[in-house]
Amino acid sequence: MRGTDSLQKIVERHLCMGCGACAAARPDLVAMVDTQRYGRRPLLKAGADPSATRSLVKICPGREIHFAPARHYDEAAWGPVLEVWEGHALDPELRFRGSSGGVVSALALHGIESAAVAGVVQVTARHDQPLLNETVISRSRADVLAASASRYSPASPCEKLADVRADGRQHIFVGKPCDVAGAQRLMHADDRLRNSIALTVSIFCAGTPSQAATRELIRALGIDDDAQIEEVRYRGRGWPGRMAVRYRSTAEAIPEIESMTYEQGWGEILQKHTQWRCRMCADHVGEHADLSVGDPWYRPLGEHEAGESLIVVRTERGRRALSAAVEAGYLSLQRRSIATLAASQPNLERTKGAVFGRCLTARAIGVAAPLYRGGALHRVWWRALSPVAKVQSLIGTAKRIFRKRILLPERALDLAADGES
Ligand SMILES: Cc1cc2nc3c(=O)[nH]c(=O)nc-3n(C[C@H](O)[C@H](O)[C@H](O)COP(=O)(O)OP(=O)(O)OC[C@H]3O[C@@H](n4cnc5c(N)ncnc54)[C@H](O)[C@@H]3O)c2cc1C
Repeated sequence: MRGTDSLQKIVERHLCMGCGACAAARPDLVAMVDTQRYGRRPLLKAGADPSATRSLVKICPGREIHFAPARHYDEAAWGPVLEVWEGHALDPELRFRGSSGGVVSALALHGIESAAVAGVVQVTARHDQPLLNETVISRSRADVLAASASRYSPASPCEKLADVRADGRQHIFVGKPCDVAGAQRLMHADDRLRNSIALTVSIFCAGTPSQAATRELIRALGIDDDAQIEEVRYRGRGWPGRMAVRYRSTAEAIPEIESMTYEQGWGEILQKHTQWRCRMCADHVGEHADLSVGDPWYRPLGEHEAGESLIVVRTERGRRALSAAVEAGYLSLQRRSIATLAASQPNLERTKGAVFGRCLTARAIGVAAPLYRGGALHRVWWRALSPVAKVQSLIGTAKRIFRKRILLPERALDLAADGES
């Protein structure tokens, strides 16, 4: 793709989604940093030669993604699907603390406790700065509990794959669809890493809100000073759980908690701040993973209902890992069909279709759009979108490009160099 032949240009042209694959491929050259406005971005280390990053372009999932060929409409809309299940962790604390039914955490814990893997790559809140995230390698139940529940803010799980490669033992990788796509591209280019990943698990993702979104959430809850904050929670401790901030008004004070519903927090604040690249994303359901996990939103939730997750089995390796976790007593599952998946996430199906129109408009105006090979996006655009939504995917994108000034280069790297961290 012309105009995106270096990391710098990928970032400037709004294609970076912050997965950290480039930093894992060359940790000597690139580090991931937090920027307020955009999310996590790759920063060239001092003294690194920018031309040395050209080879990293090939592993960037922001620039290019290859989908498995779609043999029929369901595969075009949802990617490879071998089985669909609904269920929950049998460990009540994992189920309660997890975003949905704690299934991702239960798979992680089963991997560790059965000694099938040496660790699990996961995202958790930073201890020193609870508004930010870090990627960790969990090795115990306490680690898995600490990393449970979704963080609706920027995270770069792929960057930890440099440690996994150096370790050489088997690991599970957990991430968003873009993270798993980045991990797959890295594994494709690196046999040692491929042999070190026993399983990839993707959470569904409608888009990552920026750090600025979390700050707006906190201000909406009436907390003015970030230094008072001890914990920010977006999901979990109930299903879907409340968006909650634990803070101390003075050093001596007992911590207080302010919260709002998940619907308010996501609908009124966070989703307004998803990064541009997420609007151009054609994979919200983890099509490149062995297993992908989301919410079974196909039915209204009862009051105080315990959490359930929806699980899509995409590979034989995923099928084996899921059934081993069930047999070992970590998960309780019930078989569902692809119709349950479609009824649970109709918005994600429509978004995938809309991305076909969005990419057409972006290219026509001169904005870089991700290259999607295979997958038959056009079929989803044609079938899942009403005539009005089709037009909207074209005209709405043009308006958004000008309103959000996407023709101007993203200056995340300059901001980072100016001291954001
Ligand atoms: C930004 C975002 C948008 C989402 N949008 C949707 C949606 O539209 N529809 C839907 O059904 N589900 C969505 N989810 C996923 C959903 O919130 C649950 O994660 C999913 O249902 C799995 O729940 P669980 O209880 O099985 O997982 P848990 O047991 O709670 O485990 C969650 C796992 O996700 C990891 N994780 C948390 N935050 C991040 C992050 N930012 N980046 C990478 N890894 C992370 C954790 O480390 C943990 O391993 C979204 C999640 C995020 C972070």
